[in-house]
Amino acid sequence: MEPQKEAQTPRDPVARLPGASSSQKADEEERREGGSAPAATALDAEADGASADGLWELPVEPAERRPECSRCSRPQKVCLCPFLPVHPLHISTHLYIIQHPAEENKVLRTVPLLAACLPQDKCKVKIGRRFSEERDPELSTVCQKSDTLILYPGADAANLEEFILDSPIYPSTIIIIDGTWSQAKDIFYKNSLFRLPKQVN
Ligand SMILES: [Zn+2]
Repeated sequence: MEPQKEAQTPRDPVARLPGASSSQKADEEERREGGSAPAATALDAEADGASADGLWELPVEPAERRPECSRCSRPQKVCLCPFLPVHPLHISTHLYIIQHPAEENKVLRTVPLLAACLPQDKCKVKIGRRFSEERDPELSTVCQKSDTLILYPGADAANLEEFILDSPIYPSTIIIIDGTWSQAKDIFYKNSLFRLPKQVN
């Protein structure tokens, strides 16, 4: 959203917000300019006044959860599905997204968008902080395969593109850790499983 742009449209009611105070500002501006300010300057002054003062009058977002799109998990009003491919993209590599639990509740979630673009069987999301062979035998098996890669930076990490070009085998699975840097670091170092695959960045 670009409130500046909206505010600069003279007929837009937003430009009139917050009414009295913004036109006062425009009047002051005109007086300072000797009353002969060109129309554009007066408009700009009004728009500036409106956008700065108007911020205080914006409605506070309600705390309750707004209705969400079931496909992209965005609030329905800002659903991104019209911009996503109609049919899932064809990819040969499986993705395993290891998501920190705190990441799941964030407003700007990219994983549901990614998942919405990929075939369901090619993109698996695992939410948690600790993963082990006992708790997740499937993931454990994936991590032990020689053609599985994990996307995580570090001294031992190879460049993904170069690795794919040089490697005789195409990676069957790429593991991605989703979270802040410290969350990702915690997940990477505290789960020995994730240090089995070849590390790429
Ligand atoms: Zn959607």
